[in-house]
Amino acid sequence: MVPVKLRMIRAGYCTHPERVVLQGGSWQTCSFPAMVGVISHPTEGLMLFDTGYSERFQKETAHYPNKLYAQLTPVFYRPEDSVVAQLEALGHRAEDVRHVILSHFHGDHIAAAGDFPSAWFVCSEEGYAALRPLKRITALKKGFLPGLLPKDFDLRLLPFEGRKKIDLGGRLGPFDTGFDLFGDESLIAVPLPGHADGHYGLLVESEKGPVFLVGDACWTSQAFTEQRLPSFLAQMIFSDRKAYVETLRGLHALSVERPDVAIVPSHCQTLWEGFEREAQG
Ligand SMILES: [Zn+2]
Repeated sequence: MVPVKLRMIRAGYCTHPERVVLQGGSWQTCSFPAMVGVISHPTEGLMLFDTGYSERFQKETAHYPNKLYAQLTPVFYRPEDSVVAQLEALGHRAEDVRHVILSHFHGDHIAAAGDFPSAWFVCSEEGYAALRPLKRITALKKGFLPGLLPKDFDLRLLPFEGRKKIDLGGRLGPFDTGFDLFGDESLIAVPLPGHADGHYGLLVESEKGPVFLVGDACWTSQAFTEQRLPSFLAQMIFSDRKAYVETLRGLHALSVERPDVAIVPSHCQTLWEGFEREAQG
């Protein structure tokens, strides 16, 4: 197995009262970063895990009904927050990104998909098939804004399900199977059902050890360490509430069994602050 380099960046953030995302939490407004994994693979080159927000998100949510999305999750985003601007600061061009891996299709994860003209989109075919026929209100109800995806998305889709399915053999606690994305087990897509159709995490064998990017399987680290569900209101958007609870339980078990695996929910502010400090050296 060849370890890869992983760096987390933040492409905008949104805010919510804590108790929306954590039952029993306070009414205090908290920030939820839209984190993006920037991965350098020794032979496959540059890739991303999710894309965060972009200017396209603001355009797509400027009018009703989509405006409701932006009203439910107030977004803070400046042009310099875009993944492209941040990649440029790191010495990369948007064209260098060869794969964009998507955990799921909610707007805050796909909004910048159209910014990477050379990339394949590696994601769940099952998840996309469930959303593809939906338009306007029906799509919005699923947190899916079709206008965020580039027009040729279908032609550039590389389904997880078409990759080799492997047995994780205890490497990831109760999560026993995944799809080996590049045949070297450095990046493994692992189903984490419940939050949205075709929701996946990514096990990254990084130079610093295993990192499990879990997307929106939970929104904070506190959620899996304390096994705390979000509010009933937030649960209404889930595709399968029972599966969500099971996945959260699995993440808790993993954190106990394998403390060496860093579990990273996409929107955990505490983790983001740690990554930011690390990047600043
Ligand atoms: Zn989501």
